[in-house]
Amino acid sequence: MSDKQRNFPLSLASVVDKSVKKPSAFSPARVATPQTATQNAARSAAQHTAPEARPGASPSRAHGYAMERGQPAAALAAPRQNPLVSEAVRRAMVARVAKQGVKDALVLGALETVPRHLFMEEALASQAYIDASLPIGHHQTISQPYIVARMIELMRNGGALQRVLEIGTGCGYQAAVLALLAKEVYSIERIKPLHELAKANLRPLRVANLRLHYGDGMLGLPQAAPFDGIILAAAGLEVPQALLEQLTIGGRLVAPVGARLQHLQLISRVAKQEWISETLEDCHFVPLRQGTV
Ligand code: SAH
Repeated sequence: MSDKQRNFPLSLASVVDKSVKKPSAFSPARVATPQTATQNAARSAAQHTAPEARPGASPSRAHGYAMERGQPAAALAAPRQNPLVSEAVRRAMVARVAKQGVKDALVLGALETVPRHLFMEEALASQAYIDASLPIGHHQTISQPYIVARMIELMRNGGALQRVLEIGTGCGYQAAVLALLAKEVYSIERIKPLHELAKANLRPLRVANLRLHYGDGMLGLPQAAPFDGIILAAAGLEVPQALLEQLTIGGRLVAPVGARLQHLQLISRVAKQEWISETLEDCHFVPLRQGTV
């Protein structure tokens, strides 16, 4: 068994393959999933800009993924993207991320598995595999693939991850990547419509080891703590103490820290009352905010 196979507790592809066999997952009822205002706005924009968009025939994300898994085109309306093309461009994206210095083969493998375009509005899906953060509505962004990979690589440090917490679910992309690398993943989002968007994005992928929570991630998730890894997807001026307390001894937290100028901070808990902090590369994230909306 390869290193890659041994360390993936869950393959999104196998999960989806299972769902493909259940017609209910792809019934027309699923096509009419609730859409956020941003998705609707994007859809109308797509009808004007994207050559492949056909008015009135927007496929669901489930359909998009079903296409990836090789469903016959005739069975599904207006495929969003040629599956071979999206797999090839995803591989190219991963090659670029590796070239930028990410070495962890498991992380690169997870990045290659998760169909990033399905986490984005259709108008932006054609840009899903450029290495950039892109808008997901509510003034938030889907993180740049390089930084997603880099943060997970730092948190994992070559070890096996049991329980991981993500602060800032956004559209759910990084949570899906994490779910391929850790036994259990918890992710918190403070903006209700984004929490709902992530649920809708992840539902067709049937990721069994991922729990999404709506709440203020600055408080962590005491009911599920301790975590052997914590990742913040939004930048605060400092890392909240509650999160440091929810790390296992030996656990690692990776967070962007700063305001206009930000850097990645890696904090390891080495004893009950002792943490070691390292300041790493510059980065750019949306701000970490208190409370829920
Ligand atoms: N993880 C996402 C990135 C989302 S952007 C991805 O895969 O691309 C960062 C997210 O952090 C935003 O959705 C923002 O609303 C959220 N956020 C900011 N402060 C937060 C807090 N205190 N608790 C939970 N989420 C927070």
